Amino acid sequence: MVKAIVGANWGDEGKGKITDLLAEKADYVVRFQGGSNAGHTIINEYGKFALHQLPSGIFTDGVVNVIGNGVAVNVEYLIEEMKSVESAKKELNLLISNRAQILLPHHILLDVYEEERLGDKKFGSTKSGIAPFYSDKYAKVGLQVGELFDNDGLEEKIKGIYEKVNVILKHLYNKEEINYKDVLKTLEENKKFLTKYVADTSLILRKAIKENKTILLEGQLGALKDTDHGIYPYVTSSSTLAGYSTVGAGIPPYAIQNIVAVTKAYSTAVGEGPFVGELFGEAGELLREKGGDKGEYGATTGRARRVAYFDVVATRYGLQCQGATEVALTAIDVLAYLEEIPVCVAYEIDGERVEDFGTTPELYKAKPIYEMLKGWKCDIRGITNYDDLPKEAKEYVKYIEEKIGVPIKTVSTGPKRHEIITEVK
Ligand code: GDP
Repeated sequence: MVKAIVGANWGDEGKGKITDLLAEKADYVVRFQGGSNAGHTIINEYGKFALHQLPSGIFTDGVVNVIGNGVAVNVEYLIEEMKSVESAKKELNLLISNRAQILLPHHILLDVYEEERLGDKKFGSTKSGIAPFYSDKYAKVGLQVGELFDNDGLEEKIKGIYEKVNVILKHLYNKEEINYKDVLKTLEENKKFLTKYVADTSLILRKAIKENKTILLEGQLGALKDTDHGIYPYVTSSSTLAGYSTVGAGIPPYAIQNIVAVTKAYSTAVGEGPFVGELFGEAGELLREKGGDKGEYGATTGRARRVAYFDVVATRYGLQCQGATEVALTAIDVLAYLEEIPVCVAYEIDGERVEDFGTTPELYKAKPIYEMLKGWKCDIRGITNYDDLPKEAKEYVKYIEEKIGVPIKTVSTGPKRHEIITEVK
């Protein structure tokens, strides 16, 4: 059984929590794209962790965690993250694809310098080097993990990469050049550390599929941050879609049977770009403070997240991009403070009612059209039984389900692992 767990929106939907929970019944959890640029928050018996590169099955005994070929591996950060998890849980069951690529020092620098250069026109990058990393990967000047073990070719390759990078550093950004020999030294250290974990993970996963094992493919960010289908150019530089998950994990596309898309009961986004119905002022502050675990602040950067009410137009589109077979609706407990809950059901663009999610220039012109639902005005955090939800909360779930057109099979009622309803009626 292969299941993808992906985001329907702008990321931070609560995928980490859902994956951590589903990992209890899984054999493998695989990260298939992205890098240290986004974080999954997991709260379990070991404490609270922000996982950036480690798959969310890392806390579950018996689960093999795989960093797939589609991932940008920042070795330095990975070591730190492994140490933090190891301090709570002794054994880490981890494999890293020999075809994953290594994030090199210039990727972060170019990301930082380019945002500086753009000034007001910046993308709102997390400055983790992701855009320069994927640019290099597709320009065929990236470095696969397996190449670390190529004693004959590595020095020549790194030297060649930095010949060009240094021209850019010096002449475009007016910054210090990088000595490729320093990079080689770091890579030598990286190699020592990684050796124990490196494997042909596609081979292992294909074998696991034949043996009918349960594999979870864990996405980072969400459909609206996908390079092709998201709010370009305010997107990430890898595909966040379930369609890519098989490529980024190295398994056949037809292996996926189930696509669980995660969406919050309201909307949050980080970075620049259009965000229809964004709440400012008091309403925004209130939702931001009530939201998430302890307010809506980024797991990677601590940045205040942008907030809005649930957006049917964006979510329905995100679910279609993902090809979702079911939905996990998270953080419904957060809405307890509202007397009436606005839900954005359509956009108004140039005086017209629009129900389909458009391109970025269209979205900038869009204004939200709301329908109001009755709030439940009581604490529902931690409820695990659907029947125990107040009538208005059930109506909210059913209303959203009808609007988005995909069955909501899970409702999360709090940030902790078992604060969840898995049998939605
Ligand atoms: P991910 O990247 O999709 O895993 O999402 P993040 O971990 O970045 O953000 C989700 C935030 O919502 C985190 O702070 C979670 O602890 C929190 N969260 C997840 N599920 C729930 C829920 O059901 N209720 C509440 N209140 N918070 C939740």
